[in-house]
Amino acid sequence: MKDIIIATKNAGKAKEFKTFFAKYDVKAVSLLDLTESMEDVEETGSTFEENAALKAETISNRMNTPVLADDSGLMIDALDGHPGIYSARYAGEPKNDQANLEKVLDELDGVEDRTARFVCVLAVKIPGQDTFFKRGECEGNLTTEPKGENGFGYDPIFVPEGYTKTMAQLSAEEKNQISHRKHAIDKLEDWIKQQ
Ligand code: IMP
Repeated sequence: MKDIIIATKNAGKAKEFKTFFAKYDVKAVSLLDLTESMEDVEETGSTFEENAALKAETISNRMNTPVLADDSGLMIDALDGHPGIYSARYAGEPKNDQANLEKVLDELDGVEDRTARFVCVLAVKIPGQDTFFKRGECEGNLTTEPKGENGFGYDPIFVPEGYTKTMAQLSAEEKNQISHRKHAIDKLEDWIKQQ
């Protein structure tokens, strides 16, 4: 089985990547699995693409190996696309999923338009080659209160299009069939098979 480094310390994302890549007989090794500790890469970009590239390129340069990074977030139409690239720390430091979703619910209090989408941009950096990108999205609507225990981040307030349950009420298998990350990884299939 081959390894691929995934430039994330987010346990929720790492778990999803491991499940996706196992199907291709590729082992996803996240930064949480490495014995050598990796300093956090500052996400100073202004788009998902810029931040994903920063993470993939920094870790690939440090380790001299191919690295896949993702930058993802929730874009809410009534908030002009926010929190977007600021999703992880929307309620400030330290990163807190519960505080983030409560901030969103407060901002949407009384707002009728609840449409939103999860976005995932994957960046792949191979030493000596240009970084390339794949983007996946998952459309849905936001609830007025959190429901469900599964997943992470904004899953308890996001109902995917065509569903009546939140992402956090779906099983990991159900989420992994429809998520933004799944749609982005599907577009990487040809590349993964060559690994
Ligand atoms: P990143 O680590 O900078 O890409 O930040 C991603 C943030 O977006 C996470 O911390 C979550 O707040 C949110 N997010 C991304 N993907 C998901 C998901 O699948 N479910 C729920 N929230 C997500």
